[in-house]
Amino acid sequence: MTLRVLLVEDDRELRATLVAALQVEGYTLLTAASLSEGLALARHADVDLVVLDLGLPDGDGETLLADLRRRRGCPVLVISAREAEGQKIRLLDQGADDYLVKPFGIGELLARMRVALRHRGTHLRAATTQYRAAGLEVDLNAHRVQRHGQPLHLTPTEFKLLARLVRSAGQVVTHRQLLADVWGAEYTEHTHYLRLYMGQLRAKLEDEPAEPRLLLTEPGVGYRLVESEVP
Ligand code: CA
Repeated sequence: MTLRVLLVEDDRELRATLVAALQVEGYTLLTAASLSEGLALARHADVDLVVLDLGLPDGDGETLLADLRRRRGCPVLVISAREAEGQKIRLLDQGADDYLVKPFGIGELLARMRVALRHRGTHLRAATTQYRAAGLEVDLNAHRVQRHGQPLHLTPTEFKLLARLVRSAGQVVTHRQLLADVWGAEYTEHTHYLRLYMGQLRAKLEDEPAEPRLLLTEPGVGYRLVESEVP
Protein backbone atom coordinates (compact mmCIF):
# COMPACT_ATOMS: atom_id res chain seq x y z
CA MET A 1 0.00 0.00 0.00
CA THR A 2 1.47 3.35 -0.94
CA LEU A 3 1.09 6.27 1.39
CA ARG A 4 -0.71 9.36 0.16
CA VAL A 5 0.86 12.73 0.82
CA LEU A 6 -0.95 16.02 0.40
CA LEU A 7 1.56 18.74 -0.51
CA VAL A 8 0.28 22.29 -0.09
CA GLU A 9 2.83 24.67 -1.60
CA ASP A 10 2.34 27.65 -3.92
CA ASP A 11 5.95 27.87 -5.14
CA ARG A 12 5.76 25.95 -8.40
CA GLU A 13 9.44 25.09 -8.58
CA LEU A 14 9.63 23.81 -5.01
CA ARG A 15 6.40 21.88 -5.52
CA ALA A 16 7.81 20.13 -8.60
CA THR A 17 11.07 19.30 -6.78
CA LEU A 18 9.23 17.85 -3.80
CA VAL A 19 6.78 15.88 -5.93
CA ALA A 20 9.63 14.29 -7.88
CA ALA A 21 11.62 13.46 -4.73
CA LEU A 22 8.64 12.02 -2.85
CA GLN A 23 7.47 9.94 -5.81
CA VAL A 24 10.92 8.36 -6.02
CA GLU A 25 10.43 7.31 -2.39
CA GLY A 26 7.18 5.61 -3.32
CA TYR A 27 4.69 8.15 -2.01
CA THR A 28 1.55 9.01 -3.97
CA LEU A 29 1.22 12.79 -4.23
CA LEU A 30 -1.78 15.09 -4.17
CA THR A 31 -0.86 18.72 -4.66
CA ALA A 32 -2.49 22.04 -3.89
CA ALA A 33 -1.15 25.48 -4.78
CA SER A 34 -3.50 27.47 -2.55
CA LEU A 35 -5.22 27.31 0.80
CA SER A 36 -8.65 26.71 -0.78
CA GLU A 37 -7.36 23.79 -2.88
CA GLY A 38 -5.61 22.38 0.17
CA LEU A 39 -8.77 22.61 2.29
CA ALA A 40 -10.86 20.93 -0.42
CA LEU A 41 -8.39 18.05 -0.85
CA ALA A 42 -7.91 17.60 2.89
CA ARG A 43 -11.67 17.35 3.33
CA HIS A 44 -12.47 15.03 0.47
CA ALA A 45 -9.40 12.92 -0.24
CA ASP A 46 -7.85 10.12 1.74
CA VAL A 47 -4.49 11.44 2.98
CA ASP A 48 -1.84 9.82 5.23
CA LEU A 49 0.38 12.86 5.73
CA VAL A 50 0.27 16.58 4.94
CA VAL A 51 3.27 18.74 4.02
CA LEU A 52 2.07 22.29 4.54
CA ASP A 53 3.48 25.64 3.47
CA LEU A 54 2.27 28.62 5.53
CA GLY A 55 2.49 31.57 3.15
CA LEU A 56 -0.21 30.81 0.57
CA PRO A 57 -1.70 33.30 -1.92
CA ASP A 58 -5.24 33.13 -0.50
CA GLY A 59 -4.54 32.67 3.20
CA ASP A 60 -2.37 31.16 5.88
CA GLY A 61 -1.56 27.44 6.08
CA GLU A 62 -2.36 27.69 9.80
CA THR A 63 -6.06 27.66 8.81
CA LEU A 64 -5.59 24.26 7.19
CA LEU A 65 -3.73 22.93 10.22
CA ALA A 66 -6.62 23.94 12.47
CA ASP A 67 -9.11 22.34 10.08
CA LEU A 68 -7.12 19.09 9.92
CA ARG A 69 -6.75 18.91 13.69
CA ARG A 70 -10.48 19.29 14.19
CA ARG A 71 -11.38 16.45 11.88
CA ARG A 72 -8.55 13.94 11.50
CA GLY A 73 -5.34 12.73 13.03
CA CYS A 74 -2.95 12.47 10.11
CA PRO A 75 0.51 13.95 10.71
CA VAL A 76 1.24 17.47 9.48
CA LEU A 77 4.74 18.74 8.68
CA VAL A 78 4.98 22.49 8.29
CA ILE A 79 7.48 23.92 5.80
CA SER A 80 7.99 27.65 5.92
CA ALA A 81 10.47 30.42 5.28
CA ARG A 82 9.34 32.05 8.52
CA GLU A 83 11.82 31.50 11.27
CA ALA A 84 10.04 33.26 14.10
CA GLU A 85 10.27 31.08 17.19
CA GLY A 86 6.88 32.18 18.47
CA GLN A 87 5.23 30.89 15.35
CA LYS A 88 7.04 27.54 15.41
CA ILE A 89 5.96 27.03 19.01
CA ARG A 90 2.37 27.98 18.29
CA LEU A 91 2.12 25.57 15.34
CA LEU A 92 3.65 22.70 17.29
CA ASP A 93 1.32 23.39 20.21
CA GLN A 94 -1.59 23.45 17.75
CA GLY A 95 -0.73 19.93 16.65
CA ALA A 96 1.80 20.19 13.82
CA ASP A 97 4.13 17.19 14.06
CA ASP A 98 7.26 19.03 13.01
CA TYR A 99 8.51 22.20 11.41
CA LEU A 100 11.16 22.68 8.72
CA VAL A 101 12.52 26.10 7.87
CA LYS A 102 13.20 26.72 4.16
CA PRO A 103 15.55 26.04 2.58
CA PHE A 104 15.80 22.47 3.90
CA GLY A 105 17.38 19.30 2.53
CA ILE A 106 15.12 16.69 0.97
CA GLY A 107 16.83 14.04 3.10
CA GLU A 108 15.83 15.92 6.25
CA LEU A 109 12.22 16.21 5.07
CA LEU A 110 12.07 12.48 4.26
CA ALA A 111 13.51 11.58 7.68
CA ARG A 112 10.99 13.80 9.51
CA MET A 113 8.16 12.31 7.44
CA ARG A 114 9.22 8.77 8.39
CA VAL A 115 9.36 9.70 12.07
CA ALA A 116 5.94 11.39 11.95
CA LEU A 117 4.33 8.44 10.15
CA ARG A 118 5.90 5.93 12.49
CA HIS A 119 4.71 7.88 15.51
CA ARG A 120 1.16 7.94 14.27
CA GLY A 121 1.44 4.22 13.47
CA THR A 122 2.83 3.27 16.88
CA HIS A 123 0.27 5.55 18.47
CA LEU A 124 -2.49 3.44 16.95
CA ARG A 125 -0.88 0.09 17.79
CA ALA A 126 0.86 0.62 21.10
CA ALA A 127 2.82 3.35 22.78
CA THR A 128 6.57 3.44 22.25
CA THR A 129 8.24 1.97 25.30
CA GLN A 130 11.67 0.83 24.06
CA TYR A 131 14.42 3.22 23.13
CA ARG A 132 18.06 2.74 22.11
CA ALA A 133 20.58 5.23 20.72
CA ALA A 134 24.25 6.11 21.22
CA GLY A 135 24.77 3.67 24.10
CA LEU A 136 21.57 4.64 25.93
CA GLU A 137 18.87 2.02 26.46
CA VAL A 138 15.50 2.79 27.98
CA ASP A 139 12.70 0.37 28.78
CA LEU A 140 9.75 2.38 30.03
CA ASN A 141 7.69 -0.66 31.07
CA ALA A 142 10.49 -2.10 33.18
CA HIS A 143 11.39 1.42 34.41
CA ARG A 144 14.99 0.68 33.38
CA VAL A 145 17.65 3.02 32.00
CA GLN A 146 21.12 1.82 31.03
CA ARG A 147 24.11 3.60 29.60
CA HIS A 148 26.76 1.48 27.89
CA GLY A 149 25.24 -1.54 29.65
CA GLN A 150 25.43 -0.04 33.15
CA PRO A 151 22.23 0.70 35.09
CA LEU A 152 21.58 4.43 35.57
CA HIS A 153 19.70 5.88 38.50
CA LEU A 154 17.33 8.70 37.63
CA THR A 155 15.15 10.69 40.01
CA PRO A 156 11.39 10.30 39.46
CA THR A 157 11.18 13.69 37.68
CA GLU A 158 14.20 12.94 35.49
CA PHE A 159 12.60 9.64 34.51
CA LYS A 160 9.26 11.29 33.72
CA LEU A 161 10.98 13.86 31.53
CA LEU A 162 13.01 11.22 29.71
CA ALA A 163 9.92 9.04 29.27
CA ARG A 164 8.03 11.95 27.68
CA LEU A 165 10.89 12.49 25.23
CA VAL A 166 11.18 8.74 24.48
CA ARG A 167 7.50 8.66 23.54
CA SER A 168 8.17 11.38 20.96
CA ALA A 169 11.70 10.31 20.00
CA GLY A 170 12.85 11.96 16.78
CA GLN A 171 10.30 14.74 17.13
CA VAL A 172 10.58 18.17 18.69
CA VAL A 173 8.60 18.61 21.91
CA THR A 174 7.92 22.21 22.93
CA HIS A 175 8.81 23.63 26.35
CA ARG A 176 5.10 24.06 27.04
CA GLN A 177 4.30 20.44 26.15
CA LEU A 178 7.12 19.12 28.35
CA LEU A 179 6.23 21.31 31.32
CA ALA A 180 2.53 20.46 31.07
CA ASP A 181 3.11 16.70 30.73
CA VAL A 182 5.85 16.34 33.36
CA TRP A 183 5.00 18.99 35.95
CA GLY A 184 1.39 19.87 35.17
CA ALA A 185 -0.65 22.44 33.23
CA GLU A 186 -0.02 25.18 35.80
CA TYR A 187 3.76 25.01 35.23
CA THR A 188 3.91 25.83 31.52
CA GLU A 189 5.80 29.10 32.09
CA HIS A 190 8.44 27.56 34.38
CA THR A 191 11.08 27.03 31.68
CA HIS A 192 13.86 27.25 34.28
CA TYR A 193 12.70 23.83 35.59
CA LEU A 194 13.41 22.42 32.15
CA ARG A 195 16.85 23.96 31.88
CA LEU A 196 17.75 22.56 35.28
CA TYR A 197 16.44 19.04 34.64
CA MET A 198 17.74 18.81 31.09
CA GLY A 199 21.17 19.73 32.49
CA GLN A 200 20.89 16.93 35.04
CA LEU A 201 19.70 14.43 32.43
CA ARG A 202 22.50 15.34 30.06
CA ALA A 203 25.07 14.94 32.84
CA LYS A 204 23.79 11.39 33.37
CA LEU A 205 23.03 10.32 29.79
CA GLU A 206 25.50 12.05 27.53
CA ASP A 207 29.13 11.06 26.99
CA GLU A 208 29.91 14.78 26.71
CA PRO A 209 27.11 16.76 28.36
CA ALA A 210 28.37 20.05 26.88
CA GLU A 211 28.03 18.62 23.37
CA PRO A 212 24.85 16.58 23.58
CA ARG A 213 24.22 13.93 20.94
CA LEU A 214 21.00 12.54 22.42
CA LEU A 215 19.08 15.35 24.05
CA LEU A 216 19.16 18.09 21.44
CA THR A 217 18.09 21.69 21.99
CA GLU A 218 15.74 23.26 19.44
CA PRO A 219 16.64 26.86 20.25
CA GLY A 220 13.75 28.81 21.68
CA VAL A 221 11.29 26.01 20.86
CA GLY A 222 11.96 22.89 22.89
CA TYR A 223 13.93 19.65 22.85
CA ARG A 224 14.32 16.66 20.58
CA LEU A 225 15.56 13.23 21.68
CA VAL A 226 17.29 11.69 18.66
CA GLU A 227 15.45 8.95 16.85
CA SER A 228 15.64 5.46 18.37
CA GLU A 229 17.75 2.80 16.65
CA VAL A 230 15.04 0.24 17.41
CA PRO A 231 11.68 0.72 15.66
CA1 CA B 1 4.57 30.03 0.00
